[in-house]
Formats: sequence, C-alpha cells, structure tokens
Amino acid sequence: MRHKVCPKCKAELSGKNPYCWKCGYLLKNSWAGMRKGFGITDLVIGILFMCLILGSEGGIENNTRMCVVSWFFIWCGLLGTFGYQRKWAVTASIPFYALGIIFNFVFMSEYPAHVLLMGIMAVFLIFICISFTDKGSFKSGR
Ligand SMILES: [Zn+2]
Repeated sequence: MRHKVCPKCKAELSGKNPYCWKCGYLLKNSWAGMRKGFGITDLVIGILFMCLILGSEGGIENNTRMCVVSWFFIWCGLLGTFGYQRKWAVTASIPFYALGIIFNFVFMSEYPAHVLLMGIMAVFLIFICISFTDKGSFKSGR
C-alpha cells in the first residue's frame, strides 16, 4: 500500500487522520476543511445580506425578518469558520440552522426569495449533519 506524504513537512502519513501527526497541517479533502469553507461562505452571505438591508430604503426597521435571517447566517458562519475543528461549535450551529429554516418557512409566502434562502440553508444543514458523523475530523480532547 502506498503511503501518503504531508505536503508541508513531507512526513509519512497513515490512517484517516485529517491532520498531519508531525506539523498539524490540515490535509485536503477532509470534512474539517470543507466545514471551514462552508463557514466562510456563510459568513460572506450573512454580511452581504446585512449590507443590502442597511443600504435599502427601509433600513433595519422595515426589514427585520431579513435581519433575523442574515443573523442566522452570520452566527453559523462564525461558528463554522472559527470552530470548524471543535465538535461543540458544529453542534451549536445545528439549532441555528434549524431555526433559520423554520423562520424562512413561516414567512415564505411574503417573500418568494425566502424559498431560495431556505434551499441554501437546508443544503448547509445536511452538510453539517453529514460532517458531524465524521468523528475523525474533530480534534481530540477539547
Ligand atoms: Zn506535516
């Protein structure tokens, strides 16, 4: 069997550990790396929404529902970006997502765009749940 080699320190790797045992380099194609990518995407979407709301005529007062949705994205993004290696952070992001989807569902008839948002959030939720089952990509200990 051919052994993989760490791209950073050239140490020989074995097993399914997503981190190099020698230098701690995050190896590609692992759920942890994907989680971070989704976290950053989320954060960007959330901040973009906030900017759109602040720039719109109605401001925050007339767009409170969209504000709530963008806050769900920002919180999930923060958790995903900075806590992607920690199980508690991933656990914490799941109820945020679930609430975001429920919220979108309730106001779906008022804003057709919420259907699209709900779709995006549902995909993220499925992704988080799948990555959650992959215990190997979480750092041991806490
Ligand atoms: Zn290494």
